[in-house]
Amino acid sequence: MLSTRSRRVTLGCSIAIVVVLLVAACGKRSIGSPSATTPVILISIDTLRSDHLPAYGYKGVATPNIDALRADSILYERAYSHVPMTLPSHVSILTGMLPADSGIRDNIGNRLSESIPTITELLKKNGYATGAAVSAFVLRRETGINHGFDFFEDSTKQVSGGDSAALGRIQRKGGDTLQAAQPWLDRQGAQPFFFFLHLYDPHTPYEPPEPFFSKYPNHYDGEIAYADSVVGDLIASLKSKGIYDKALIILLSDHGEGLNEHGEEEHGMFLYREALQVPLIVKLPKSRRGGTSVSVPVQLVDIFPTILDRTATPPPKSGHRPGQSLLTFLDGGATRQIYSETFYPRFHFGWSDLHSLIEGNDHFIRAPLPELFNLSADPGEKNNLVAAGDRRTYTRMRAAIEPFIKEATAPTTFDPEEAAKLAALGYVGSTVATHKGQTLPDPKTKLDVFHNIRIAYTHYENNNEPEALRITNELLADNAQLVDLWDLKSKILYRMLKRPEALAAAKEGLRQNPGSIALLFDIANLSLQSGDLDGALQHAEIAAKIEPGQGHEVLARIWIERHNPDRAEQEAKLAMQTVIDPTVELMLLAGVEMDRQNYQKALDYLDQAEAHVKEKSPPRLVNLHLTRGDALARLGRGDEAEREFRAEINDFPADPKAYSSLVMLLATEHKLDEATQVIFAAIKASPMPHTYVVVAETLKAIGDDRGAIFWTLQGQQRFPQDAELRALPKRLAEVTPALKSRLQ
Ligand SMILES: [Zn+2]
Repeated sequence: MLSTRSRRVTLGCSIAIVVVLLVAACGKRSIGSPSATTPVILISIDTLRSDHLPAYGYKGVATPNIDALRADSILYERAYSHVPMTLPSHVSILTGMLPADSGIRDNIGNRLSESIPTITELLKKNGYATGAAVSAFVLRRETGINHGFDFFEDSTKQVSGGDSAALGRIQRKGGDTLQAAQPWLDRQGAQPFFFFLHLYDPHTPYEPPEPFFSKYPNHYDGEIAYADSVVGDLIASLKSKGIYDKALIILLSDHGEGLNEHGEEEHGMFLYREALQVPLIVKLPKSRRGGTSVSVPVQLVDIFPTILDRTATPPPKSGHRPGQSLLTFLDGGATRQIYSETFYPRFHFGWSDLHSLIEGNDHFIRAPLPELFNLSADPGEKNNLVAAGDRRTYTRMRAAIEPFIKEATAPTTFDPEEAAKLAALGYVGSTVATHKGQTLPDPKTKLDVFHNIRIAYTHYENNNEPEALRITNELLADNAQLVDLWDLKSKILYRMLKRPEALAAAKEGLRQNPGSIALLFDIANLSLQSGDLDGALQHAEIAAKIEPGQGHEVLARIWIERHNPDRAEQEAKLAMQTVIDPTVELMLLAGVEMDRQNYQKALDYLDQAEAHVKEKSPPRLVNLHLTRGDALARLGRGDEAEREFRAEINDFPADPKAYSSLVMLLATEHKLDEATQVIFAAIKASPMPHTYVVVAETLKAIGDDRGAIFWTLQGQQRFPQDAELRALPKRLAEVTPALKSRLQ
């Protein structure tokens, strides 16, 4: 028995050697020798389904640049992601590890351990310069994905006004990302380098720039066409520098997109083919094997050994890495087991995690209601073979996946000290963490809830707040464990100018889910706006430990309100260190100088901020003109101040603040008719309870008590249920001194 087996192994090896020799002998088919001078370019186009690329037979979009790259490359017809989420998938690509081994199984919560070597660090040790530019907040440096990069461009902060966006929506256009990296790329010369470009455009929201928006009614495809144009710009730049020909270029995606094929529009919840199968195109130096295809299934953890191999970089000594160089499959290969997982339904919804195994054409999904599909006969995965009674394959796959399954606990962002602080603030409710052995619902039986969440968000995005609130409240009644819904409810109420209710919703959400960083920031911001500076500070300090950039920014705002300009300046400058685009921080520093009554210096900061704002689309920023108007008014430059207030009103007609400042300015100049016109304009542009409040307060401040009472009554008549308006008569006396100080 033993001798037979060893003979077979020996025979197999000698055949392999012959094959290698044959391949090496045949010049046309050679893949060249590894070299530590080969430039390496890794392009990840987020959320790009392979079956939406012409290179994979799709007809709905034109991608001339990717097509041209494909002609010079090896195309892997069947490449699979291990996890349909951006951060864990990119960690798998850069570490060669499955999520359970890297420890990164979700977009939030955990930071990549310093002890896990990335391809970046290994290349750097091997003499490479390393640079990256990413387009999404989920890949920001705080995640640890920047390990080993000399240059890491991740400035994706939103600077336009309004409420903060959901995690996945904080992003920038691919063209801006490439542009931000261009100076670094231009500096690369004789030394070998590794460049990682991450484009996020095919991720929601699907809003491609023109001409792609008009050209493609399917805006997902339009985003793909736009991303292709950015790839074209990068390749043109590489060609112009003579780098393209000698480079190893890998183009891939981190996961696919549901597009409603199994009830999911985006990705994360399910492990069907459309979420896992990704494009993978590998251009070798000198375009060796260009235009060929490989049909053997491969996986994203194969990227790591491929780059090591081609750059003659020594592999790490320890750690479990199941990948193999993609170049070992050029002439076929044995059937492999490709594992994928998602804990997104469990961590974020309290529903069951899912696990999948692809072996040849069999695709098994381990779930409370298991599924088995034949990828060749049924690529759309409509026919569950478990239900159809294929017991043999089912039993085999069910056993085969078990060794891959590794438990995960919901990511916790808090260390014990922070957890203790939270408990001191009264957040001691149970976490959503599910227990081992607990029966969890199958996500596919929760499609109605999932669908309604999406509808609630859509109403919110379309400014239909009452409907968004109604659906969110209905959902929360049965799903109080859903952090995102509390965050949404708070944001809806905030937009409806119901600030106390918005704060209460965020606090209730945090009580139910004490691990939520999003709710911590919601509470810090809302407390700040409602004047509870102690509450704001307590929450912001905890949040700043986890997200320093955003945390320092909020802390700076709090210290400005506390009239502690030195602390505020310190925090704003700390925040500035974490960003490339400092617009928000410059606005904060302007606020600090306003507080110091150093108006000229405030104007200098505002000019710097405006220079950045002018580059943006749309080129406007809440409070920019308002603050400048304030500074000018205090410098006695009334005409210029008036122009600035009117510019703010022009940019943000629904925000009552600038109307208030303008009314006060006009009143001090005794232009009472004009001031009255401005009041009517404010009510017309923003007929909301809060506008009546601002108008009444403003009139009270300029000494027009009758006007203040008139507009209070008008508001109460129109919105008899509004709490802020009902409390207004009492409050007018208190707010007046504060507002009056602005007149002096
Ligand atoms: Zn992604």
